[in-house]
Amino acid sequence: MTRGKSRREQLSRLRNNLNPLYVATEKPRRPAAHRLPGAPNPLPGEVFSSWHWRIQTFLRLPTKVLQAALGVDALPYWIDTGACRLDIERMAYAVMHTTKSLEALTWPQSSMLSDPHYCCLTTTPLRRRPIVRYCEICLRTDPVPYIRTLWRIACAYLCPTHGVVLRELCPSCHQPFELPRYKPNQSSRQLRRCHACGADLCDVESSALPEDLRYLVLARQAELLQLVAGKSHLLEVWPELRTQEAYCFGSEASGLIDMGTEQNVRMLFAHVLNARFRQTKQTVGQSKRTLNSYLLKISVRERGGKASTLPVALDGTKVFGKHALTVCKHLVGRQDLWGGTHWWPVEYMRFMLPSDVFNAKDFAAAATWSAKFAQLARGRN
Ligand SMILES: [Zn+2]
Ligand SMILES: [Zn+2]
Repeated sequence: MTRGKSRREQLSRLRNNLNPLYVATEKPRRPAAHRLPGAPNPLPGEVFSSWHWRIQTFLRLPTKVLQAALGVDALPYWIDTGACRLDIERMAYAVMHTTKSLEALTWPQSSMLSDPHYCCLTTTPLRRRPIVRYCEICLRTDPVPYIRTLWRIACAYLCPTHGVVLRELCPSCHQPFELPRYKPNQSSRQLRRCHACGADLCDVESSALPEDLRYLVLARQAELLQLVAGKSHLLEVWPELRTQEAYCFGSEASGLIDMGTEQNVRMLFAHVLNARFRQTKQTVGQSKRTLNSYLLKISVRERGGKASTLPVALDGTKVFGKHALTVCKHLVGRQDLWGGTHWWPVEYMRFMLPSDVFNAKDFAAAATWSAKFAQLARGRN
């Protein structure tokens, strides 16, 4: 053994003894040799990318080091969709949590969200970015702010807990919301700050839809979520649907249920939705066909010149029918919620805002974006 090598080994041993959190940067050999004591537990309804960011921040780990310890190499927002195969046991060993708590961080591999053809359900292919929304009241009241699974889906328009419109853009600089880039010394509160301008994302007045529209949008949101996610996972991301089982409607002395109270209306809504879901027995094939009819598709040329269609967004006019433009006015006009749903017929594209005009180049880029997703998904098999 050379003198230099022996010195390097001594140093490496010393470093390991001094810092129990030290994780070697080379690829770990199976079984996972590195553990991350103190890794925070996933929070209720939390999505993988949010948990990944919180571990980094809490343990002060550079991305590569954390990815090596968890055995993942895709971008966290692609992992959220369930498209990448994860070694859950290895991850559970590394962070010392149960496999069950980690499985809930991503959508199931069997769901449509992990199918590359439907990447418009969790990303906006024409803008080539993931969908990440937030509810300012949820973030403001969270003891530790975090991103919910529901906020990563194109058909999540309203917060089911607070009934307010979800946001996609920073209220101050109007940049799309995304998880802040990891920096040593940042705290978990940083998630409430805009990644671009640093403004407090919760320092803004909430926007609620007029009551009739609110229940229309919530109902459509529930229906679409049921189609993409299936009932079991829907209840995980929307726990309020279960609460009606334990809740008694507040009633007046006359015995009539008072529908003037907000809470009673919400409970009735959850009750009706839940009853409907119990009756629906759609197969996966039927769900796909129904959802397909709500999507806006563009023609693209695949590599090799073969023509095909690519869904790029939900079609607002098909989802909300005659109410589409009223809903759009409230969601987009007042609240900066613009991705994931296309509100105008394709032929009107050229009349729209400059940022909403797309051309053949954008279409080709969208196809490449979804092909990248497909590549990841292929890697899982
Ligand atoms: Zn909320
Ligand atoms: Zn900003």
